Amino acid sequence: MHEQRMLIDGKLVPAERGDTFDNVNPATEEILGAVANATRDDMERAVAAARHAFDTTDWASDHLGRKAAILQLHAALEAEKEDLRSELVAEVGCPILITYGPQLDVPMREALRWPAEMIEQFPWKRGLGDKDPFGLGQLTTREVWKEPIGVVGVIVPWNFPVEIILNKLGPILAMGNTCVLKPAPDTPWNATRIGRLIAEHTDIPPGVVNVVTSSDHLVGEVLSTSPLVDMVAFTGSTATGRRIMEAASATLKPMFLELGGKSVNLILDDVANFERAVSGAASIVCMHAGQACAMPTRLLVPSSRLADAIELAKIALEAVTYGDPTDPSVFQGPVVSKKQQERVLGYIAKGRDEGARIITGGGVPTHLRRGYFIEPTLFADVDNSMTIAQEEIFGPVLSIIGYDDDDDAVRIANDSIYGLSGMITSGDLERAKSIATRIRTGTLGINGGIAFGADLPFGGYKQSGIGRQCGIEGLEIFTETKSVGWTTST
Ligand code: NAD
Repeated sequence: MHEQRMLIDGKLVPAERGDTFDNVNPATEEILGAVANATRDDMERAVAAARHAFDTTDWASDHLGRKAAILQLHAALEAEKEDLRSELVAEVGCPILITYGPQLDVPMREALRWPAEMIEQFPWKRGLGDKDPFGLGQLTTREVWKEPIGVVGVIVPWNFPVEIILNKLGPILAMGNTCVLKPAPDTPWNATRIGRLIAEHTDIPPGVVNVVTSSDHLVGEVLSTSPLVDMVAFTGSTATGRRIMEAASATLKPMFLELGGKSVNLILDDVANFERAVSGAASIVCMHAGQACAMPTRLLVPSSRLADAIELAKIALEAVTYGDPTDPSVFQGPVVSKKQQERVLGYIAKGRDEGARIITGGGVPTHLRRGYFIEPTLFADVDNSMTIAQEEIFGPVLSIIGYDDDDDAVRIANDSIYGLSGMITSGDLERAKSIATRIRTGTLGINGGIAFGADLPFGGYKQSGIGRQCGIEGLEIFTETKSVGWTTST
């Protein structure tokens, strides 16, 4: 049922040396099974296949063929959606509840279909009319052509793997590119399943999509350094993003980077239902154990109501259901690995050492003896300069911070190297929108609005990334621009 093999040049293959590595269930610590463990040679074969497919097939020019092939992949995924759901719960540790939302059902609805539908509407050619730019008495007719960028190296993390893969594959393929996909070693099977479906159920030509799994992160570095790769599309941590950029600088590849965040949830003093606003803001950080880049992990409340807010947030966090991700009532599962659990606990210790006060949680739950769980954790007495307020923790940890007035709230929100996301709650929509213009971030949800979808650009300001995924911007980013001018004389 689970696919161990990679997809290289249209064939489902083991690693060249026959090596495999284990896929571990983070909720039980059991080994689920194995997957191919590629070397750099495997990766180079995949890159060569993607290059060959781009250079020698009509994939880039066959708009209708591409649309049909992407929709075939969508249909094939739909047919195996329930198997994919259980696989995601097992390998990601994501609560099944979340798979009915952003982990699976939301991206399944439109991540492939929207870009496929956009192929025919996309402005592949834009006429600019005639001009005599050098004053030579001869008119030049000018057009701007959009063309695929070529071979894209796609490197993805483990937190929302299907969502991230589909939101990259859809636009990359719709724009006529070929690619090599390297999933995170923690969550390889959803990617190899997609590889198998492409090979067995679609007319996507061999080499157009390649899937390479490896326990060695540096196998992915081939995608940054290879002169055969035209672009890297990466989602992951800011530290890895920097490293990928450095490695790619020798070949000057364009980069599309979706990186970390340290977003705010700003509750204004005019909010009608303060209790509901604080409770919702607190419990959301436990969704999927806080392993979401857009998570608003700094809760900003008016200083005059800080004490109330701490009490309300404590009650909300203590009510979060956490544990076995297969239990449909569970909101928070484990974090993805032992390493990640230790990292989050390290941040909690650092918060305590730097003078923040743990209001609830702060450790490993004693009743969950197996699996990489962490208690829903609330910090008060947090200064925004502390490590827990500056660095991305990627665990169920909330810092609550008081602010004096709107200017102070905006100052705290922007006092971050990140700028990915955020939320504002206010009784006055226009006031909230006005504050939204002052927060340097790529997406903002106001009064529960969800700024997310295949047709809406998603990405970060500052060190949260470069470029946008989804929307028209997310199609254009996978294209090159060619300006052409001609005369009718010869
Ligand atoms: P990570 O940066 O450790 O790894 C991401 C991917 O990069 C993995 O596939 C990994 O194998 C690969 N990788 C690591 N080093 C590499 C190298 N030198 N060259 C090429 N590939 C390399 O991130 P993670 O721990 O898997 O995921 C968590 C991070 O992802 C968080 O920081 C989170 O904010 C971020 N994230 C961002 C978004 C977004 O859209 N902005 C979405 C989800 C996750």
